[in-house]
Formats: sequence, structure tokens, C-alpha cells
Amino acid sequence: MTSFQALVVREAEAGNPKSAAPSIEQLTDDDLPEYPGDDTVVVDIDHSSLNYKDGMALTGKGRIIRSFPMVPGIDFSGTVVSSESDRFAPGDAVILTGWAVGERFWGGYSQRQRVKADWLVSRPDSMSSVQAMGIGTAGLTSMLCVLGLENGGVTPGDGPIVVTGAAGGVGSVAIAVLASLGYEVTAVTGRPEEHDYLRSLGASAFLTRDEMSEEPKPLESETWAGAVDAVGSTMLAKVIAQTKYQGVVTACGLAGGVDLPSTVMPFILRGVRLQGIDSVNAPTADREAAWSRLATDLPSDLLDSMTEIVPMSSLPEQGQAIMAGQTRGRVVVDPSA
Ligand code: NDP
Repeated sequence: MTSFQALVVREAEAGNPKSAAPSIEQLTDDDLPEYPGDDTVVVDIDHSSLNYKDGMALTGKGRIIRSFPMVPGIDFSGTVVSSESDRFAPGDAVILTGWAVGERFWGGYSQRQRVKADWLVSRPDSMSSVQAMGIGTAGLTSMLCVLGLENGGVTPGDGPIVVTGAAGGVGSVAIAVLASLGYEVTAVTGRPEEHDYLRSLGASAFLTRDEMSEEPKPLESETWAGAVDAVGSTMLAKVIAQTKYQGVVTACGLAGGVDLPSTVMPFILRGVRLQGIDSVNAPTADREAAWSRLATDLPSDLLDSMTEIVPMSSLPEQGQAIMAGQTRGRVVVDPSA
């Protein structure tokens, strides 16, 4: 019987929804979850990653974990060991993101996992496992935002795109993709020390977190053809108030808060469009389209430059770091270490 290591979060005490500190445990195939009635696939996980939601799960914030014991990790890249589905065969390279994996269902912080076949997509041939998780849920979300801008008809000639939460995972991938597609990108960051990094990804102008967190007037000077917002709250309201006539604002995150203190003025006087972006339940066809675009439109040297690989054993500290806004770019997790 195969034995492997996984990061497990258990209840602090029976009936208490507060989670205990995560710890690495040795599991066997018999421990893996079953999904009666669904075709399942067993995957040897090569890499997972650290996303904002993983930080919440690892630190017990926001009740991300809905059942115990839980193996967190909202995404992974790996190789099929066995499959009940015609779509996948042993040896296939696959990716999983979302579907409440790492929240309600066991996730990627493990060397092996059993999941529903419907949750998997094939990894593009040109993409390594490290690159797939260098992108991960955050990067997939960035591409869904870019597709949202494109579907809204925003082109590089229309004017600059503003990216908030710029030095984080969603922001970093969004900047690299947008710049490689020819868009002019303005980065909003609370970390001026990351300007060189953000410039290397393709940002050409900067705004501070503080100035973009000031309460906006209902309408401000028309500046942005579009936006990728990972922050929410007052910053999203500010971005909306500064968006050009019929511009498109894609909203995917809440790093700054869940509220939206805006007015209807940008919508009714400028036709500004607010496009919500969700990666968790995105249809498989949309995911496949986004992964295919990531394989061609995200320069691999930029992806490599924004990616750090850490051992699974460091996740408790990594979770604290991402919640404190100290993580730069993307963090790939090696479940074997
Ligand atoms: P990161 O922590 O990597 O990046 C978030 C960035 O936001 C930080 O790096 C920081 O950027 C900025 N930030 C942090 N705290 C604040 C604050 N209080 N006020 C303003 N800005 C802040 O997280 P991810 O990039 O992985 O995720 C970003 C957001 O997107 C999260 O809210 C996450 O939940 C959401 N998300 C949503 C998905 C969806 O499907 N809709 C999928 C994936 C992520 P800087 O230092 O440059 O200012």
C-alpha cells in the first residue's frame, strides 16, 4: 500500500469549528476520500501552490475549511495514477483548481489525492508542473480577468489598464499577461520597494495603495480603459469612478475588504461595466480556454521570475505571510518536502 505525506488540519476539539494548527501526517491510499456515484481519478501531486484563500485556511481565518479533518490546498498539478473516467489515463498530466477543493473536499497539500474527474483539466503540453502551479488559481483568475476585458471589447489602443494588489499573485500574472498583449499597465501597490519587480513584469506606471484607498468622488477623471481588481472595497470604488466611458472593470478579489462603497454614477453616466470574476465554479470550457491562453500569452521567463518554490513543511509560516500581504508573486508548494 502506498504511503505518502499530507498536511492535515483537524478540529481543535470535537464539535468546535475552530481548527487546530496544521501538521504533516503520513497517510495511505485507504485514507483518501471516496466520491460514490462520480468517476474519480487518483493523482500523484507534483506541486500545489499558495493562494490567498489557502492563507485563510492555514490561519483559520474566514472559516474557509468546512469539514474536518481537511487536507487544504485549493489547487494542484500532478500525474494520473488511476482513472475511472474515459477522459484521463494513467500518466496524463493534469491540473485542478477550485470546485471547493481544499475547502469542502481534500486538496493539494498532499503527495497523492483522489478527486472527481470533472474537476480536472489537462495540463498544456508546453507547461511544466512548476509553471502550472506558478500560475495556479491566482494566475487562472488573472487570465479570466483578461478574457473579461477582451470579451468587453477592451483593446490596447483604448488606454491604460489599472491592476490593483499588483505585487500579489493575481496582480503579478495579470501585469505580465496584459503587458505581453501590448496593454499599457498601471500598477497599484502598497510596496514601493517592488516597483523594479513590477516594472520587470511590464508595469509602466505606479500608484500607491494609500492614494487609491481615498474615498472617491462619484465621478473622477476618466483614466482607465479597464481594470483588474484584486482588492475590492474603497479601492474598487475608486477604480470604477476613474474608468473611461464604457470601460470594463473586472473584480475578482477582496484583499482590502468585501464592501463596495460606490455610487451608480459611473454606471449610468459613463456606461462603465463591472464584470465579476469567479474561478471556483467556472465552467470547464472557460478553464480550458484560459489555460490555453496562459500557455501562449504569459512569457515563461516572467512566470519563472515571479515564482518561488517552498517545502510543504513551511506552509504554516507561508500562510501567515500571505495574510500579512508579504508574499510577492506566486508561491509553489513542493509536497514531498
Ligand atoms: P496575494 O496576497 O498574493 O495578493 C494580494 C495583494 O493585495 C497583496 O500582495 C497586496 O498587494 C494587496 N493587498 C493586501 N492587503 C491589502 C489591503 N488591506 N488593502 C489593499 N491592498 C492589499 O493574493 P492573491 O493574489 O492570491 O489573491 C488576491 C485576491 O484575489 C484575494 O482576495 C483572493 O481571495 C482573490 N481571488 C479570487 C479568486 C476568484 O475566483 N474570484 C481566485 C483567486 C484569488 P501590494 O503589496 O502590491 O499592494
